[in-house]
Amino acid sequence: MTNAESYLKSEQSNKLKVGFFGITGCAGCLLSIIFNEDEILDLINAVDLKAFPFVKEVNSDESFDYVFMEGLVANKEDLETLQKIRSNAKFLISLGACACTGCIPAYRQYTLKENYEHLLYKKTENLEDLKPTPIDAHVRVDYYIPGCPPSKREIVNFIKAITVGKLPLPNDNPVCVECRKNNNQCLLDIGKPCLGPITSGGCDSVCINGGFECWGCRGPTKDMNLKLMINVLKSKGFDEKFIQDRMRTFVGLKLPMLESVLHDTGNNAESHNQN
Ligand code: SF4
Ligand code: SF4
Ligand code: SF4
Repeated sequence: MTNAESYLKSEQSNKLKVGFFGITGCAGCLLSIIFNEDEILDLINAVDLKAFPFVKEVNSDESFDYVFMEGLVANKEDLETLQKIRSNAKFLISLGACACTGCIPAYRQYTLKENYEHLLYKKTENLEDLKPTPIDAHVRVDYYIPGCPPSKREIVNFIKAITVGKLPLPNDNPVCVECRKNNNQCLLDIGKPCLGPITSGGCDSVCINGGFECWGCRGPTKDMNLKLMINVLKSKGFDEKFIQDRMRTFVGLKLPMLESVLHDTGNNAESHNQN
């Protein structure tokens, strides 16, 4: 080994060993990392990038300090990959809504097979399909970076923080806090079904800034007032089916109490189902 090679090796051994993996998902979360054009090279230099199969040909699957995992468990292969990676990682980061909440693919649990069967690719019969579930239904997760897709800024800040030995604090404020700072008109006030009050912030209220209501992709806040949110939506004329479908779209599996809270609030809305 030359002097230069041994220098580089010792430099690498001092760096955090990091891997980026994906199971069932659309790769949008992994793209959020690559699309940090301005900072991605600095970040990659700051860590020892042991694996990123999406962009690297040679990848290790052994001994990581941090692994970022995109996607949810939808088949047996996902589960085996996840379990293997978990056993080789000191910290596992759940990256994006599919990994954190199950996201839209998990909505399959709330609809009849006949509603989506025609969309299935024939080969899925051989994939040993499992109930679609977020990764923390199967393994321990140390940190969550939510969102569909997750915020590029949040990913960069997270990697910067771990390179100096810190874990950033999760954002516990609802989307409304950022939305008010951005001086947006409140969409609830004009009768739109915005889930900002019960959804964890950190996305800079990007949807509302663009005129769209929040659908809750970053998951519920720890201390959400679900009952009040339901009552507000009902007072705006949305019926139970609409509210249930909307809240389940991204985070149904993280709201197991939804049906009973809906039942508790009673259906006092004038019918205004937007479906
Ligand atoms: S969270 Fe969204 S962007 Fe990420 S894999 Fe799932 S669907 Fe794609
Ligand atoms: S538009 Fe939505 S996120 Fe913004 S303040 Fe109103 S309810 Fe909250
Ligand atoms: S505003 Fe809501 S739906 Fe949009 S990115 Fe933020 S949390 Fe997700």
